[in-house]
Amino acid sequence: MKKQMDKSRKAPSWEVYERLIARMIADQLETGLTVSPNAHVVGKITGVSRQVDVLIDARHDTDNTRRIVVDAKKRSRKVDINDVEAFQGLMADVGATHGYLVSPSGHTKGAEKRAQRTVSIRIVSLDHMENFDPSSWPQCKRKGCRNGRIFWDGYPLLTQTLRPLEASGELESLQVSFVHYVGKCDRCGRFHVWCLTCNDILSLPEADDADEGYQCGCKPPWFWLASVEEDEAGQRSAELHACLIDGRVETVDRRSL
Ligand SMILES: [Zn+2]
Ligand SMILES: [Zn+2]
Repeated sequence: MKKQMDKSRKAPSWEVYERLIARMIADQLETGLTVSPNAHVVGKITGVSRQVDVLIDARHDTDNTRRIVVDAKKRSRKVDINDVEAFQGLMADVGATHGYLVSPSGHTKGAEKRAQRTVSIRIVSLDHMENFDPSSWPQCKRKGCRNGRIFWDGYPLLTQTLRPLEASGELESLQVSFVHYVGKCDRCGRFHVWCLTCNDILSLPEADDADEGYQCGCKPPWFWLASVEEDEAGQRSAELHACLIDGRVETVDRRSL
């Protein structure tokens, strides 16, 4: 009974608006950038975990010098100077070089002046929410994650070479491409991989001491592995890797911590 209630529970509309903005951004960005909805990163100034509505970082490496953060405010009041200043404080703490303040209601003249070049204020109308339902996204597969949904924003393509059997008489080997979606849970951040060939959705824990890879039902010559990495500057991030059997490792997704 309880489970049923959880399932039918609708997300609050501000959360739907946040996910809408994340979706719109991910659909427009180049795939070299990773988009995390409802991200949590440790502030450089405060040392405290800060919630960010939408976080945009480099996907394949730990260079966060072009970090962009987005604040989505679903409300009827206009964005004002105080909103901009609070947002600039968050940006400074998480080391963002640019920020977008998004609301359906516009902004005051003062807010625009205060925003200067580092903050862009954008209007996204509530009309876009009509046919948008993040509760239809696949559920997070991590045990204990309450009502999280998977947000896909990366599409790595991996190719397997099929060589003909000697006896078959065919000489050409065949390249078979496997399309995947990769993404993160919008509650707990857990990485997931969806293989479009066998339809498996894998849930990849990054703090797995066993350090073993995960393979989809296709049993291809690669496996997926998530881990927590730290760069020279001490910045930590969770990374999702595709590990190919010839030893190559591709970082296909990241989530800053
Ligand atoms: Zn989750
Ligand atoms: Zn598969």
